Formats: sequence, C-alpha cells, structure tokens
Amino acid sequence: MFGSEVRELGHRRDVRFQSAAGFLLVHVAALGVFAVGFSWKGVALCLASYYLRMFAVTAGFHRYFAHRTYKLGRSAQFLLALLAQTAAQKGVLWWASLHRHHHRYSDLPEDVHSPLREGFWWSHIGWILSGEYDETDLSRVPDLARYAELRWLDRNQYLATLLYATAMALVFGPVGLFYGYFLSTALLWHGTFSINSVMHVFGRRAFETSDGSRNSFLFAVLTMGEGWHNNHHRYPGSAAQGLRWWQIDASFYLLWIAERMGVVRGLRRAPARWREATARVIRGRRARFDVALELANDRMAQRIAGLSERWGKLKDLTALAAHQALNDYDRRREAAALRLATLEASYAAAVKRLEAATGKHVEELRTEIDQTRSNLLSILETLVLTAETLRTARPL
Ligand SMILES: [Zn+2]
Ligand SMILES: [Zn+2]
Repeated sequence: MFGSEVRELGHRRDVRFQSAAGFLLVHVAALGVFAVGFSWKGVALCLASYYLRMFAVTAGFHRYFAHRTYKLGRSAQFLLALLAQTAAQKGVLWWASLHRHHHRYSDLPEDVHSPLREGFWWSHIGWILSGEYDETDLSRVPDLARYAELRWLDRNQYLATLLYATAMALVFGPVGLFYGYFLSTALLWHGTFSINSVMHVFGRRAFETSDGSRNSFLFAVLTMGEGWHNNHHRYPGSAAQGLRWWQIDASFYLLWIAERMGVVRGLRRAPARWREATARVIRGRRARFDVALELANDRMAQRIAGLSERWGKLKDLTALAAHQALNDYDRRREAAALRLATLEASYAAAVKRLEAATGKHVEELRTEIDQTRSNLLSILETLVLTAETLRTARPL
C-alpha cells in the first residue's frame, strides 16, 4: 500500500519491509481502541502520552540534540534521550544527524524530506519507509557521539519504546496499551512528520529564508511550538521558536521553567533584536501593502483622467469635422453660384455679339428662321402634290 503510494510520486524506490511493517503494525494496533471502547481515561492517557513525548522530541531530539540551544547535565541528557526514544522515531544520534542535514540542505536537492522537491507523501512518510536513510551518520554529530551512553541508546533504538509500551500496559491495562501507547504513538508520528511535510508548504512566511518553511498557529499547538517553523529556519540557534508573545511555544515555556529549577542552563532565547526583526517584517509588509494600494489608486485615477481627456478630444474632433464640412459646403455653393453667374454673363455676351453681327434682335432672327422653314415646307408639299398628279395622269 505504501509502496505504491511512494512509487506514484515517481520514486523508483522500494519500501523497506521492516520499516513499513513496524509503521503499519502501530497504525493497525491503534485501531484497537475500538475494541477497548470509548473511555475518557483513554483519551486523557492518549493526550498525556502524546504531549509528554512530543516535549521530549521537540525540546530533546530537536532543540537540544540537533541544535544544542541549551545545556544539560550528562544524566539529564541521557534521560531526555531515553524519553524521546519512547516516541519510536529511531535513535537520538540518527534523529539529530538527519535533522542537521535537513537544515544544511533545506529544500535543496540533497534534502531528504523536502515536499517541494519530492512531493508531500514522500516528505511525510515515504523517506522513512524507504529505509534509505536508516544509517546514522556519526560525522554530523561528533559532539553527541562522544557519549558512550548515547551511542548505546542509538544502537538499541527500540528498547525505550518497548519498555514504555510494556509499562503502559502493566500500569493502565488495555486502555493504557491502545490509547496511551499505540494511538498516541501514531498521532505523535504524524504530528512530528507534519513539520517536515506540512510546515514546508502550508502557512505564512515571516522571513525570506532560502527554503520553503512556514509558520502555523494550529501546528504550533499540535507540536508544542514547532509550528513556528519559518522562525526556526531563520533562527535555528534559538531555543524559542515563537518569537512574538502570541506565538505560543509550549516546549519553550517548559524549558524556561526547567531553567528556573536549575535543570537547564544557558537557554538561548531569541534576542530582542530577533523579535524586533519579526515585528519589522510584519510592519514592512503592511507598509508595502499600503504603498501598493496607493499606487493602484493613483494608476486608476490616471487612467480615468486619461480616458476622459481622450473623450474630450474626440468630442472636439467631431465638432471640428462637422464645422469643416459646413465650411466646405458653403465654399462649394459659392463657387457654383459664381460659375452660374459667369455662364449667364457669357451667354448674354454671345447673344449681344450675334445681334451686333446680324443687326437684328435674336427674337427677330428666330421668327425669320421659322418663317423660312414653313415656306420651304409648303414648297415641298406643292412639289410632292405635283409629282403625285403627274404619276396618276394618263399620257396624252
Ligand atoms: Zn524544516
Ligand atoms: Zn531544526
């Protein structure tokens, strides 16, 4: 099942049987809560067991062993590693070395669990089930590997979790085993893995880090402060991941109390200037937004002004064209009238010239021509009549 899911992502990588079998076993066993039946005691045990071990994973594996953001005595260090290994997330040295690698290559091709590079499911569980990264690279954790007891814990990575499960079953019975161990462990895995998967794709970014890390209030509650993952990628050396008062970070609060009790020393808090930097980023973002809004308004106003100016010009142009057409018409009408007058004048001149040449008025000439034409016609008629008479007359 998981093999096919992993392969769908385009990984020609196989799921290692032992890793997948253990993973499946815990999930199937978590369904045992249905056999046990609903119980408030079970819910309380599940939550207590979840947050106890979430603290050990985030404050221990992550902030202490991987990032060394505070100091512990040797025995406290061992006990914290022991408690964290009840979470069944392999050994303390393995966890720290892989996580240091994640920070060095976040979302680069070398990153083991980058959702941006290899897809969501690969970053969530695929890389664990593949068994490709099961070996502990001690070269990345020389500061931890010098403790024999940590090396021993790392070699016996499932001892603590088996003891924990047994204790749960012995003290609380089936409710302890199924709610307090199996269900709680399955939830704890997904809570932890979500930092690798969800927190590199979902949420807001306060800092422009070179990776895709993000911040989420919801996941900060679920993971005792690890949801401020973008803050963490920006300041991995800070034990606190919540940098603002409202960015709740339960693991850091407990570490702060432990420091008051003298268990923890040298807790590296986010310096005030870091917190100030977060506030500055938020202020800067707001200012940029305001500027962008103002620019957009300006551009809109300019556009409207431009359009109305063009409309005005268009109106002017139309009026001008109509005016020109009218002028043109007037000019042509005047020219035509002028030509008509010229023609009339030359006609009158021609009549005058004719009258001068003949010594008669044009009217008289016209009457004479008509007279002559009718005379000619009557002569022609007489001739035709005579010819007809001659043709029909008998010869003498
Ligand atoms: Zn990360
Ligand atoms: Zn980290």
